[in-house]
Amino acid sequence: MARIGVLGFLHETNTFAPGPTELARFIEADAWPGLVEGQALLDATGAMNLAVSGFVAAMRDTGHILAPLLWCSANPSGPVADAAFDTIVSRMETLLRQAGPLDALFLDLHGSMVTEHLDDAEGELLQRLRRITGPAIPYVAALDFHAIITQAMVDQTQAMVAYHSYPHVDMADTGARAARMMQRLLAGESFHAAWQKLDFLVSMPWQSTLGDEPAGKIMAQARALETLDRPEVQFIPGFPNSDTPESGPAILAYASTPARAQAGVQALAQRVSGLQQAFSGTLHTPDQALQIARTHASLRYILADTQDNPGGGAAGDTTGILHALLDQQLSGAAVALLCDAPFALAAHQAGTGSTIRLPLGGRSTPGDPPVEGDFEILALGDGKFVGTGPFYQGCRMELGLMARARIQGVDVLVSSRKQQAADQAMFRHLGADPQDYRILVLKSSVHFRADFSALADHILMVKAPGANTADLRELRYTRLRPGVTIL
Ligand SMILES: [Zn+2]
Repeated sequence: MARIGVLGFLHETNTFAPGPTELARFIEADAWPGLVEGQALLDATGAMNLAVSGFVAAMRDTGHILAPLLWCSANPSGPVADAAFDTIVSRMETLLRQAGPLDALFLDLHGSMVTEHLDDAEGELLQRLRRITGPAIPYVAALDFHAIITQAMVDQTQAMVAYHSYPHVDMADTGARAARMMQRLLAGESFHAAWQKLDFLVSMPWQSTLGDEPAGKIMAQARALETLDRPEVQFIPGFPNSDTPESGPAILAYASTPARAQAGVQALAQRVSGLQQAFSGTLHTPDQALQIARTHASLRYILADTQDNPGGGAAGDTTGILHALLDQQLSGAAVALLCDAPFALAAHQAGTGSTIRLPLGGRSTPGDPPVEGDFEILALGDGKFVGTGPFYQGCRMELGLMARARIQGVDVLVSSRKQQAADQAMFRHLGADPQDYRILVLKSSVHFRADFSALADHILMVKAPGANTADLRELRYTRLRPGVTIL
């Protein structure tokens, strides 16, 4: 019977988004819990689609004892403040010392955190924790599909397992995979790691693993390469809007011998290189996308506002597509979620059924003006509801005051905290059914597909203002290692 410490610290850093990301963002809840310690960690993360939830559930009947220490996350955004990183890691160190002897450590990490002065924040975190626990006990980490793998991360852990799916519908399952690796390590097995960094960047919208997409084919090949003595062969695409020497995808395998692990990496690398050029797609301007929707008036559309996707570090408040809807006088549309706390507060003060005249959105991005006009307040919400779709399953959202406001026949779902529009419960919380709209504008790149794809005949990827740049060639990378290309 082993005693296993449980830690979590998740941030996907868009180094092109304005920073720094302060401590408060990690303390407050959003779709995921705020900073939690001890028993509260287990209470807050239970029964939801998170790696820590899946790990804890899978370990429940194994006879091992869990020591929950600290878990926190912040929505993707600009580089993390050095002070915030240090405060959280120092607290983890204190809790780790107080916890007494541990036999293993489980870590729920994103894997692409960058601070003001650290390119590889997870590598630094792991090294600091190792100074307390020593090198002997196994560390098993769960990682995001968009993790950026580094040598320090590989060196400091005995196993790292990343989500297989984008949309990340398998976060809890990934925690269960981590639990299986943990049990085998605690039973005395050891795994050899082999890994390879790949020298290209793939934009977020083209990383989907659904349908016939290249990432899906690569994942299928990876599963085919896994065996009992080579339990993990992984393609980890990385987060592309990150300008560091480590940026880019990786292939990472664990096996009973170095040769078996290396053979898995080589076989998967071959598959990736055959599909590498297939990562692509079409970006539409808002006017082009709406023209298509106007031409095919009997069809239903989702317009993915990918560049303002808060899940990629954007602010979630830009108005490019909303302006285009109003200019083209297209009604029967909804925009979700637009983050504007002052607007949501004013809507609550005015009440349902009232009409308010207040600028909406357009605060974060130069050249993206607010929408001005009369808004009819159709519904109000406190922002507290439970996710029901495959991605946000079980998540107890805390998005602050919310409102559904109508302008010229277009509904805008407004929140006080930014959150990716990837769950139908966001609409239902505000008395709306997403099926009732012919055009859904969703601030999301890929995650929305899990819960919304069935509602549309066509999905159009739209390039409107926002910090989650979709055409990576527009970004000024200065720190990539030589040879990295943009697909
Ligand atoms: Zn991700």
